[in-house]
Amino acid sequence: MILRRLTTAVRKQDWFTVAVETLIVVFGVFIGLQVNNWNAARGDRADELSFLERLHPDIVRVEDSSARVRDRRIAVIDDLRSATEVIFGVAARDQLTQAECMALATSHYYNINVLSLPSVVELENSGRISIIRDAALRTALVEYEQRVDTFTIRQNDQSLSNNLLMLNPQLVKVTPVFDAELGEMQTLPECDLAAMREDQAFLNAVAENLDAYDAYLRDGLLPWDAQLKEVHRLVDRALGITHESAP
Ligand SMILES: [Zn+2]
Repeated sequence: MILRRLTTAVRKQDWFTVAVETLIVVFGVFIGLQVNNWNAARGDRADELSFLERLHPDIVRVEDSSARVRDRRIAVIDDLRSATEVIFGVAARDQLTQAECMALATSHYYNINVLSLPSVVELENSGRISIIRDAALRTALVEYEQRVDTFTIRQNDQSLSNNLLMLNPQLVKVTPVFDAELGEMQTLPECDLAAMREDQAFLNAVAENLDAYDAYLRDGLLPWDAQLKEVHRLVDRALGITHESAP
């Protein structure tokens, strides 16, 4: 219709009508594009909300599945440090505590359940990470996945840690016991401090383990844990969720 009127106007050299009809066409196209954009934006908002609503339980699941082992791994460093001080004679004591002995026995244990957030991986794979409007959250999510990778590599790298139980079995002896409270098998270690101080290979291995464990926490576990908390905080903020205690 418009095209026919336009053609007739051109033929008649009616430039005023040509201008008006052209403007109508341009304006129509413009409105059409705007409606399209508006619909796409509305779709993105709905997708963003559904993504955040799936992400929150993902985060809680990762936190819950790793909480107990994470706390145990973090607690080991203090006992490992004080055990090393006692063994090397920096702290004047002639006995190791049970916790210090346990820290020596488990100082090569690095494994922990480090999980990716499935909803984030899915969003990244579909190339739609930009639907998240909060730039801080977008960055935090990308960084979280990077820290999972770094931590996984560090966990699998046992090259700097020594299994003290196997190095000299006479120095740290373990007995398996069932912990009814935790509902799991545990090992009860027994340490021979005087003999440890005489064994230079063992002393070297202890020093190496303390160094390696410190790096494992500093470069792997703690940054991953902090990033998980930061992601949780930003998602809580976006969804207006408050927890009774801080996540
Ligand atoms: Zn939360």
